[in-house]
Amino acid sequence: MHWWSTPSIRVRLTGWYTVVLFLMMVVYATATFVAVRHEFLEQLDDQLHDDFETAEGFLAPAPDGRIAWSGDRHHDPDNDEARGSDVWSAGGEPIYRSSASVALPAVAIAAATTTPRYESVVTNGSRWRTLTGTSLVGGRAVVLRVSRSEDRLRTQLWEILVVLVLGLPLVVALAGIGGYVLARRALTPIDHLASEARRITADRLHERLSVSNQHDEIGRLAAVINDTFARLESSFDQLRRFTADASHELRTPLSVIRGIGEIGLHETRTPAEYKEAMGSMLEEVDRLTTLVDTLLRLSYGDAGTVRLSRESVDLGQLARDVVSSLGILAEERNQRLRIEQAANISVTADRLVLREAITNVVDNAIKYSPRGSSIEVRIHADRDRAILAVADQGPGIAAEHRERIFDRFFRLDEARSRDAGGTGLGLAIARWAVEANGGSISVKEGTNGGSIFEIVLPARTGTIVEHQEHATQRMGGDA
Ligand code: ADP
Repeated sequence: MHWWSTPSIRVRLTGWYTVVLFLMMVVYATATFVAVRHEFLEQLDDQLHDDFETAEGFLAPAPDGRIAWSGDRHHDPDNDEARGSDVWSAGGEPIYRSSASVALPAVAIAAATTTPRYESVVTNGSRWRTLTGTSLVGGRAVVLRVSRSEDRLRTQLWEILVVLVLGLPLVVALAGIGGYVLARRALTPIDHLASEARRITADRLHERLSVSNQHDEIGRLAAVINDTFARLESSFDQLRRFTADASHELRTPLSVIRGIGEIGLHETRTPAEYKEAMGSMLEEVDRLTTLVDTLLRLSYGDAGTVRLSRESVDLGQLARDVVSSLGILAEERNQRLRIEQAANISVTADRLVLREAITNVVDNAIKYSPRGSSIEVRIHADRDRAILAVADQGPGIAAEHRERIFDRFFRLDEARSRDAGGTGLGLAIARWAVEANGGSISVKEGTNGGSIFEIVLPARTGTIVEHQEHATQRMGGDA
C-alpha cells in the first residue's frame, strides 16, 4: 500500500488547509484586482473630465466667426503621446486634432449627444479612453473629444496581476509548509501516546499512559484510554479470579466423588453401604450439575443471548408464590416468614427470571438467619418505583462486603455456604436477573441487626394502589 492511498492525518490536514487557503487567496486576489482596476478606471475618467473642461477653455470664436483652438499644447510635454484633444464643428468639420490622437477614428457626429460619453477605443494595438461631448462656443455647438492612453494604466494593472499571480502560489506554498510543521507538532503527542499504548500489553495492564496536561485534548484522550485500561485490568482480574474460583468449585465435588469411589473400592462393603456411597456421589453430581447450569446461565446472561418474555407481573402475587414455595424451608428452621404489602404494584418483567432473583434472596435469608428468627418480605412503592425488600435477623453483612457479595463465588463464610448447599452464585444470578429486568439490587443494614436486601424496579404506570392497612401473610412456624 502506498503512502498516498492512505495519507496520514497531518498530510490530509495540510492538504485541506492548503486547498482552502488557495481558494480563499484566489477569491481575495481576484476581488483586489477587480477593485484596483475599477479605481484606476474611475481616476482616468475623472482626469478625462478635467481635460474636457480645460479643452473647453481653449475654444473661442475667432474674429472671422470661426471657432478656433487657442490652447497650444495644453498637455504635459513629457506625456504628449499619452493625451489628445479633438474638436469638430456640428457639421463634422475638424476644427482641431492633436497630434497624439489623430490616429483615433473621428467621432461619428450623428452619434454625439449632449450627454458626455466615456468609451474605450482600440487603435493600432493600443487602447485609449475617450470622453466625447458637445460644447457651446459663442452660441455654436462643437463636438469635443478628449482622450488618454490606457497604456500606463494597463502596465500598472499588469504589474499588480504579476505580483498577485506569482505571489499567490508562493504564499500558499509557504503557508502549506508552515501548516505541515504545525500539524506535525500538534500530532506528535498522539504518536507518542500510540507508542506508549502499544507497550501496555495484557500482562502490563497496570501501567498507564503519562498525561502531561489533563485539560488539553491529548490529556483528555489519554485519560479516556487510561480509563479503558483500568476497566480492562479489572475485567482481566475478574476473569482470572472467576476462572480460579470456578475451577476450585468444580474440583471440590469431583474430589469428593473420587474420594467416595476410592474408599468404596478399597474394601468390600455391604450393598447398603455401596448404595449410600452411590447416593453421596449422586448428590455431588447434582451439585456439579447445578453449578455448571448456573455458570452457563450467567454466561448466557453476559453474552446477552437470554430472551426475556416481559409481561405485567403483580409483585405481591410473585412474592406470595416465592414465600409459599420456600415456606417449608423456613418451617424446618422454625422461622417466621411474612409478607408485608403496603401497596398493590405491578412491574414489567420476565416472571420466571424475577422469581428466581426473589427466591435466591429469600432463600439466603432463610439459610443465613438463625433458627426461630423472623424474615419479612416488604413490598411498597416510592414514587414510580416498586420496592421489594427482604429483611432478616441474620448476621448482617459488613459494609465493605456489601458490593462484593453480588460477585460470582464471593462468600463470607465458605464452609457455611457450602454446608447450606450454596454455590456462591445465588446473588450473582439475582443481580443479573434484576438488572435484566431494568431494576437494581442492593443490601443495607437492618434496623436491629440482620440485613435488608432491596430489589427496586420501575413500576408500571397507574398500577400503584396504596393500602390503608398493611396486608400480612404469615408462613412458617412460631419460635
Ligand atoms: P451462596 O450460594 O453462598 O449463598 P450467594 O451469592 O447467594 O452465595 O451469597 C453470597 C454470600 O453472601 C453468601 O455466601 C453469604 O456469605 C452472604 N449472604 C448472602 N445473603 C446473606 C444474608 N441474608 N445474611 C448474611 N449473609 C448473606
